[in-house]
Amino acid sequence: MDECLFCRIVAGSIPANVVYRDERVLAFRDIDPQAPMHVLVIPITHIRSTDELRTEHEALAGALLLAAAQVAREQGVAEGGYRVAINTGADGSQSVGHLHLHVLGGRRMGWPPG
Ligand code: AMP
Repeated sequence: MDECLFCRIVAGSIPANVVYRDERVLAFRDIDPQAPMHVLVIPITHIRSTDELRTEHEALAGALLLAAAQVAREQGVAEGGYRVAINTGADGSQSVGHLHLHVLGGRRMGWPPG
């Protein structure tokens, strides 16, 4: 998946501001932050979107959510609250075809999302 932007970040061929990494998950700061704290949590392995998730990804899906919560705590937004968002496909406004969780915090979020 050399053509995938986030796979290239995983491989280190594109720089990123990494805040968390383990054997399954990488988290790095969004290049265009939409909140004072905006981190993307991604699987190391290439999965295009939530639409590709299957039963065999159950543990990985849990690891992604747990990593998002850990990032929020480590970045100091857990107490005040934060948002975890996943955009999927065209109507979901997904622009990068590698599954990612947005972790946003440090300001009051609006609802409903745009
Ligand atoms: P989405 O629209 O949900 O697919 O989100 C993709 C996110 O990736 C956007 O918030 C972008 O700002 C972010 N992004 C794109 N390129 C990079 C990059 N090189 N490093 C960090 N974040 C990026």
